[in-house]
Amino acid sequence: MRKDVRILLVGEPKVGKTSLIMSLVSEEFPEVVPYRAEEITIPADVTPERVPTHIVDYSEAEQTDEQLFQEISKANVICIVYSVNNKKSIEKVTSHWIPLITDNTDKDSRVPLILVGNKSDLVEHSSMETILPIMNQHSEIETCVECSAKNLKNISELFYYAQKAVLHPTGPLYSPERKDMKPLCVKALTRIFKVSDLDNDGILNDHELNFFQRTCFNTPLEPQALEDVKNVVRKNLSDGVCDNGLSLKGFLFLHTLFIQRGRHETTWTVLRRFGYDDDLELNQDYLFPPLKIPSDCTTELNHNAYLFLQSVFDKHDRDRDCALSPEELKDLFDVFPYMPWGPDVNNTVGTNDNGWITYQGYLSQWTLTTYLDVQRCLEYLGYLGYSIIAEQESQASGITVTRDKKIDLQKKQTQRSVFRCNVFGDIGSGKSGFLQAFLGRNLTRQKTINEEHRSFYAISTTYVYGQEKYLLLHEVFPDFDYLSDADMSCDIVCLVYDASNPYSFEYCAKVFKQYFMDSKTPCMMVAAKSDLPEVKQMYGCSPLEFCRRHKMPPPQTFTCNTAAAAPNQDIYTKLTTMAMYPHVSQADLKSSTFWLRASVGATVFAVLGLTLYRVLLRQR
Ligand code: GDP
Ligand code: MG
Repeated sequence: MRKDVRILLVGEPKVGKTSLIMSLVSEEFPEVVPYRAEEITIPADVTPERVPTHIVDYSEAEQTDEQLFQEISKANVICIVYSVNNKKSIEKVTSHWIPLITDNTDKDSRVPLILVGNKSDLVEHSSMETILPIMNQHSEIETCVECSAKNLKNISELFYYAQKAVLHPTGPLYSPERKDMKPLCVKALTRIFKVSDLDNDGILNDHELNFFQRTCFNTPLEPQALEDVKNVVRKNLSDGVCDNGLSLKGFLFLHTLFIQRGRHETTWTVLRRFGYDDDLELNQDYLFPPLKIPSDCTTELNHNAYLFLQSVFDKHDRDRDCALSPEELKDLFDVFPYMPWGPDVNNTVGTNDNGWITYQGYLSQWTLTTYLDVQRCLEYLGYLGYSIIAEQESQASGITVTRDKKIDLQKKQTQRSVFRCNVFGDIGSGKSGFLQAFLGRNLTRQKTINEEHRSFYAISTTYVYGQEKYLLLHEVFPDFDYLSDADMSCDIVCLVYDASNPYSFEYCAKVFKQYFMDSKTPCMMVAAKSDLPEVKQMYGCSPLEFCRRHKMPPPQTFTCNTAAAAPNQDIYTKLTTMAMYPHVSQADLKSSTFWLRASVGATVFAVLGLTLYRVLLRQR
């Protein structure tokens, strides 16, 4: 919200501008006034909206046109004063003042206008009949008011309206012609409703209404007040209250009512709390809170953010099958201005037999976004209302910035839970198959993937010594000319060659020698397509010999051509383990007990994790 408000009074000479200002300040009518009152500043604590307010007078006798134009462009709200007993001063409102103001204000920044009819003490009738048509013609006119500087009628109201016109303008919310809320306002309130509807049943029950009230206004709603609100809606709208809760229709009706009764600051408070700015767009400060990420650090979601995302999943997995159907997914992203996940996501994370993103897959995709593009993740969390629902200061409090990797290496331990593995290999060596197999898909299943929907990432969990870790596989485009720094920086390198193609290994050897031989990043050689007959590689030495020379584990045979079963997952556990413990010597890695411990943990905990989730679901 604004830090201060600048109110300018304009109008024909002698309509009473100066008298209005003096009456407000001295609380009595000044018989004699100067041409122009000095600019006054009302301190925040004596104004109703608690913002410092400057009031600026204008006098044709004392000021040049140039000075007037300057004041107009500086003002946040302009009161056009006329005298109710002076027809000419009313005519001038449309013939002179409104065009003059329009010409001297920035087209994009809407300056609200207030029509002020002074000297109401002098006439019996009201000027409203003449004024209302003007208001209908000019949407920038926020409101009109009749007052009298002489008997102090509506003076403080006038300045209160002016302040409110700046702080809580009706313009963006409501169309007086249509007597209805504007579409953008309906859209924003609908999103707010959906975010606040914690169980996604289309109704705000007492618990949800109380939470909403507390987040927006910092006070709980008294039980009687809650009933009163529902009764007002019930009386006016047949389907505004359902199952003793507020429906979306009822919620929107309530806000229309607030606005129509001049209580639009209530609606603004709600909108601002949920991150909207004066144009009803989500604030950049809200969507992108500052977050510093030093180099060699990565970004992960913390426990709190995972809990929140889990609750979002639960509220949209209506049939409780632990996966999101296309409709459920669409409903989940309904609070976004666009659909963030394309069909490639289904080939990046785990899906069920229908090809729908599973609970694990959903969390994996969030983990991936957080890791690769944390700004995007903050934005997405903002759309979901993370900071509000999880009662956090900002989206940024859902992110863990890991410590510098150099410290991890020094201390020989890591607190990270996401590890990146870049997968290198020549064209056709089996990289994509290797990525897809991590998602449990065998070759037959992989053949059904639409080429346009393919992904160069795959992410899922593995278990290393009973700890759940994310392994992020990235398929690197094989052309040497295209290799970037990002392709080189990872926790583990995977070099894939086609064991049935004699010319496949050479590429791996070349990449290794050029980029990784002298780096600290551990490397693993994978002999893919092991279901096919192995051929001798056309290279100076055998892959086994190459690995031995360069102190790498021997090539790991791998195939995703498994008839019915899902491809074996051991290799991914090995990769994660090597990524976590880059300092562990090759001798240790070769010892069978090391791997055994790692992989036993894997199966036990994989099963346990699933059971736990099922138990949790059943309890609800
Ligand atoms: P300005 O030129 O617009 O600043 O107008 P002034 O404040 O100087 O007022 C012009 C004249 O109108 C003065 O004689 C005031 O006393 C008188 N006046 C101002 N407000 C009122 C009002 O509410 N009622 C009556 N009856 N006279 C007013
Ligand atoms: Mg004056």
